[in-house]
Amino acid sequence: MALKRPVYFDNNATTRTDPRVVDVMLPYFGEDYGNPSSESHAFGWRAEAALDLAREQVAEAVGAAESAEIIFTSGATESNNLALQGVAEGLVKRGDHLITQETEHPSVLEVCNALARKGRKISVLPTDAQGLVDPQHVRKALCEETVLVSIMAANNETGTLQPLEELAQVCRERDVLFHCDAAQAVGKVPLNMEALGIDLLSVSGHKMYGPKGIGALVLGERVRPSSLTPSLLGGPQERGLRPGTVPVPLVMGLAKALELCVEEREVESERLLACTQQLLEVLRSEIPDLEINGHATRRLPGTLNLLFPRLESAKLLPALPGFALSSGSACSSGSGRVSHVLNALGRSDNQARSSLRFGMGRFTTAEDVERLGQAILRAVEALQ
Ligand code: PMP
Repeated sequence: MALKRPVYFDNNATTRTDPRVVDVMLPYFGEDYGNPSSESHAFGWRAEAALDLAREQVAEAVGAAESAEIIFTSGATESNNLALQGVAEGLVKRGDHLITQETEHPSVLEVCNALARKGRKISVLPTDAQGLVDPQHVRKALCEETVLVSIMAANNETGTLQPLEELAQVCRERDVLFHCDAAQAVGKVPLNMEALGIDLLSVSGHKMYGPKGIGALVLGERVRPSSLTPSLLGGPQERGLRPGTVPVPLVMGLAKALELCVEEREVESERLLACTQQLLEVLRSEIPDLEINGHATRRLPGTLNLLFPRLESAKLLPALPGFALSSGSACSSGSGRVSHVLNALGRSDNQARSSLRFGMGRFTTAEDVERLGQAILRAVEALQ
């Protein structure tokens, strides 16, 4: 007998591509397979027209200015690399200082480490115990040489939402560019790049029911594409910032995924908030000293990271075979390292090892949540 698939609770790691997104992509794997750079025939023209439409859809979904540039990449990792390296190299004559914060994704922190090895000055700001960055800390860290501040919108392990408007405002006052890794936030919480004052925005398709292998770096009106140094060298695609044939089916999937998220966001976020609340209530009924990692209310509606005192997640996970869960980010799991995010919030290694992340999403039902809650209670009782 085939093994029953576990119920998926790991939507921060990745999401299922929505079947409506797959439908939009299929023609571009089929009859519309042209290369958008082919200027001499209808295959190329059709592909290019599709890309133009997708750029408009993406710009609208993230509230980008009319003059904004959408650079399609392979995902948020590449967008973050391009943003940080691109600005650090491109604006090196202006300054050599960048600011970020402790709970960023490795695709930001590792780029900063590499830049530091090249002699650039990097300030990595702390967060408070709930994971928030204080805009006043950014203000104090800014100096004449600062060219970029990079702070994520929503944390991938805890869902904590940063005060983007205040952070961007501080940067704008000093005429410093503000980059935001919004891989986990786009489509899930209201995010208007222009209104918030974000200059560079990283987006990922597979975190919001789009395909894997596609993302975007959106450049706001204060950022000229020519001022950034590309990470890859090659053809003139994507304003020369991302050479290589643009994967039209994936781009169309990304645009459709974003459109659906924006359309359904209000109803969906209420539903997900109710799901996370439901899980919390079921668990707290039997485990009163359960704690939330990250901010209790300023967080993604579907993300909940919980600290189970006196329990190791490495023991709890195998006791829950019917559920696909994780103790933290997929990117650092396997490294054997304790979550740098939870450590940054002041959690000890032991506390971090007693934590589990629950990522609910579009395909999670209230029944799934109820079953999960009951299964955890049974497992906790058996382990204790
Ligand atoms: N930033 C954040 C906050 C993420 O959660 C992720 C995915 N784990 C990334 C960047 C990298 O995204 P991608 O998989 O699209 O490269």
